[in-house]
Amino acid sequence: MTSPSLPPVASVVTRFAPSPTGQLHVGNLRTALHNWLWARRHGGRFLLRMDDTDAERSTAEYAEGIRADLAWLGLHPDGEVKQSDRFALYEARFAELVAAGRLYPCYETAQELDLKRKVQLGRGLPPVYDRAALRLSEAEKAALEADGVKPHWRFRLDHDSLIGWTDLVRGEQHFDPALLSDPVVRRADGSWLYMLPSVIDDMEMGITHVVRGEDHVSNTATQLQMFTALGAQPPAFAHEALLTGSEGKLSKRLGSLGISAFRDSGIEPISLIALLARIGTSDPVIAVTDAAPLVESFDFAHFGRAPARFDEQELALLNQKIVHQLDFAAVQSRLPGGMDEAAWLAIRPNIETVSQAADWWRVVTGPIAPVPTEAEDRDFLACALALAEMQVFDEAIWQKLTDALKQESGRKGKALFLPLRRALTGFDHGPDMKQLLPLIGRERAIERLRAAIAG
Ligand code: GLU
Repeated sequence: MTSPSLPPVASVVTRFAPSPTGQLHVGNLRTALHNWLWARRHGGRFLLRMDDTDAERSTAEYAEGIRADLAWLGLHPDGEVKQSDRFALYEARFAELVAAGRLYPCYETAQELDLKRKVQLGRGLPPVYDRAALRLSEAEKAALEADGVKPHWRFRLDHDSLIGWTDLVRGEQHFDPALLSDPVVRRADGSWLYMLPSVIDDMEMGITHVVRGEDHVSNTATQLQMFTALGAQPPAFAHEALLTGSEGKLSKRLGSLGISAFRDSGIEPISLIALLARIGTSDPVIAVTDAAPLVESFDFAHFGRAPARFDEQELALLNQKIVHQLDFAAVQSRLPGGMDEAAWLAIRPNIETVSQAADWWRVVTGPIAPVPTEAEDRDFLACALALAEMQVFDEAIWQKLTDALKQESGRKGKALFLPLRRALTGFDHGPDMKQLLPLIGRERAIERLRAAIAG
């Protein structure tokens, strides 16, 4: 779906790159959604990349959970890769960069590096790696390796020019590479850190836009040089302000709450999508039942720099508004057997979650919990019973019954409607009686009025 107001972006390809070391939370989901929205908006492709280079913490179960959450939300990827399948590719690119002198072996221990940082900080200097390993002679390196010291590898940043890019959210960004440490890309045991494999994948997968949280901004500065070192044109970047809870910063609870917790509490997938598409942007949050309007209006230019506030109460209210608009077809499979479209339309305005429809359906089908009848209502209900027995229970039954009762009893307003509602449903409030009474039907209505007169 390309919008006439935006210049066409040639075949947009985005990716969502979670580490399968835990379940998705709202913060990750927002990143996934924005990648999906941007790709859909431009008729492009949205890819899923499992960043599972950390073999110890990544599990197939978490990967499956991520796929299931995305599927529940309707964010279907157009393809999936996992980094653990791609080590040969990383190895080949690694060798190229070593040959080009852009990767160099380092032999310091974690303790030595820590000490260096402390000394720098103590002198009021930025804790930037001093490149001591670059000054080692071949003989010194050979001696270390002969001693069994295995190197880890750093990417040598080019200090000759400033790093800059136009971020789709943050605008012009500049970094002085001299103030950044050469990043470690590979550990002494041969395992990969996130930084370089991500660049290699973005190149190989033809990613045109990297959409992620602003905690990655300084990674981007170094990754841009990696793209160039590998002879690739870097993608565009959009770094979004992070998500916070209503009381500031994503609470531990929200940060660890899986997407299934929202599903279990009756939140519709489209409700999460509608909220997460718009918070932190200049566009209002709207109650939609389909993502199309969100796709059409999605634009990084609408994003602010302030953190996006995620408020669970706002989500619950939005969800309620959305439930009130859901078509029967969208919910049918989740409704109790026998509950038809007329019943859904009657009950829909009175529920906060779809599962609550079953509670009102039980009120229709009965048996209901009887409410004791007030003495002054007994004659009135007896009159209602007599009138109901004479009526045909069609669509207009509530109107006919209450019109006739009004005439007979002289009652109006609450005195007219409340005792009837109570007797017929067992509640003082609920769905519109005009729609509910035809569903309750003649037999049950008469039985309930009898019980109320006796009770
Ligand atoms: N696996 C990385 C993360 O979850 C991906 C970051 C990126 O989008 O490049 O932070």
